[in-house]
Amino acid sequence: MLVFDAPKTTELCGAIPNPPTVFDENPLLELLNSDGFSIFPGFCDVHVHFREPGFSYKETISSGCQAATRGGFTAVATMPNLDPVPDSVENIGLAQAVIDRDSSIAVFPYGSITEAEKGEQLADLKGMASRVIAFSDDGMGVQSRELMREAMVLAKEVGKIIAVHCEDEKLKDDGYINDGEYAREHGHRGIPAESEWRELERDLELAKDTGVALHICHVSCRESIELIRVAKIDGIDVSCETAPHYLVFDDAMLEEDGRFKMNPPLRAQADRLAMIEAVADGTVDMIATDHAPHSESEKSRGLAGSAFGIVGLETSFPAIYTYLVQTGIISLERVMELFVYRPRERFGIALGNDFSIWNLEDTAPVRPSEFLSKGRATPFAGRILSGRCLLTVHNGKTVYLDEKALQETKARTCKSERTH
Ligand SMILES: [Zn+2]
Repeated sequence: MLVFDAPKTTELCGAIPNPPTVFDENPLLELLNSDGFSIFPGFCDVHVHFREPGFSYKETISSGCQAATRGGFTAVATMPNLDPVPDSVENIGLAQAVIDRDSSIAVFPYGSITEAEKGEQLADLKGMASRVIAFSDDGMGVQSRELMREAMVLAKEVGKIIAVHCEDEKLKDDGYINDGEYAREHGHRGIPAESEWRELERDLELAKDTGVALHICHVSCRESIELIRVAKIDGIDVSCETAPHYLVFDDAMLEEDGRFKMNPPLRAQADRLAMIEAVADGTVDMIATDHAPHSESEKSRGLAGSAFGIVGLETSFPAIYTYLVQTGIISLERVMELFVYRPRERFGIALGNDFSIWNLEDTAPVRPSEFLSKGRATPFAGRILSGRCLLTVHNGKTVYLDEKALQETKARTCKSERTH
C-alpha cells in the first residue's frame, strides 16, 4: 500500500493516522493491507458552491458533501453567492444552520465582501469575522478600488483572507467564452484575459499597500500567473488556486455545449501551458474545483445561453492524476501539497483523522450520470481518467464507501499476488 505521510513543516496538518491504527479502528480496512491501494490525507477544496440556502434545486449541503467525499475531499469552503448572501451576522447564521444540520464533512462558509455581493457597500466584515473562513464576492469582481481597499484594511485588522474573483466588468462586457480564435470563428462574444489580469494587478497593488492576506481564485491565464509570480518574489502575501479544467482544456477544444462554459472561460493553449508550468514550479499554491452545479435546463442552452459553471469535485483528483502525474509532469507528493497541505495551511484548516483510499489503476470514462452531485455538466464527460475513490473517512467515520469497487480491487490484487 502506498501511504502519504504529512510533511513535518506543516504543524496545522499533523500526521495522518498510520495504517496499523487505522486497521484497529476499522476492520474493513484490514482488507486493504496489500498492493493496489493508495491512502491519502483528506483533500481540501477552498472553492466550491453548495447553493444552500437559496438554490437547493442546483445542489444542497448534503449532495455537495456526498460529491466531495466521492472525490476524496473531507474539507471544503463554500462561496457566498447564496440567497440570502451571507453578508451579516444574521445571514451567516442561516448558512451555518444548514451546514450544522446536513454536512457530512468539514464545511467552512465564506462571508461576502460587499452587501448582497453588489459591490456597493461593505458587508459586516467585523461582525462575521469569527464565523467565516475568509471573505469573497466570488462570481463578481469588486469594481470599486476604494471599496476593495477598505475591505482589505478591515480584513487585515480581523486577520482574515480576502479571496478575489478578478474580473473587470467593463472589459468582460457581455462575453461568455474566451476572446480567441474559437469565439471569432463561431461568432461568439469573447471575454478577454485582460478582464482578469487588470483587476488582479489592481488587487496586488492594494494588497501590497494594506498588507492583507490575498488569495486569487481560479487563475486562468498567462499574464495573471506572471503577475502572481512577481508579487510572490516581491514579498506580497498572496496565494492562488487554479482548477483542473484550466490545465486540461483550452479553447481549441471547445464544443457547442454548456458543459464547456464557466467563468473564467477556458483560455488559449499558451495560457493552459503557462498554468501547467505554474502548477509544476509551485507558483500555483492549490487546486480548487470551483464546483458550481446548475440544473440540467440551465446547462442545456449551448455556449451562449447556458449558466456559467461546471461541477468538479468528483473528477478533480483523477483529472490531475491522469493528466499531470501519469504524464510525469508532477509527482504525487506535489499533488498532496496542492490538494491537502497548502490549502489547509493557508486557510488554517486542520487535518484530523481524515483520509481516502484509492485504486489508482482503475481507469474508466467519466460518467456524469453516476455523480452524487446534483450537477452533471463537465467537460470531462467521456474522458478516460485513472483513479477511483473506494472509501473516504472524516473524523474517523466512513463517509463514503464504494464497496463493490473495493471488493473488486481486493480480488484483483489477490489474484495478481498469487500469479507472481
Ligand atoms: Zn469566481
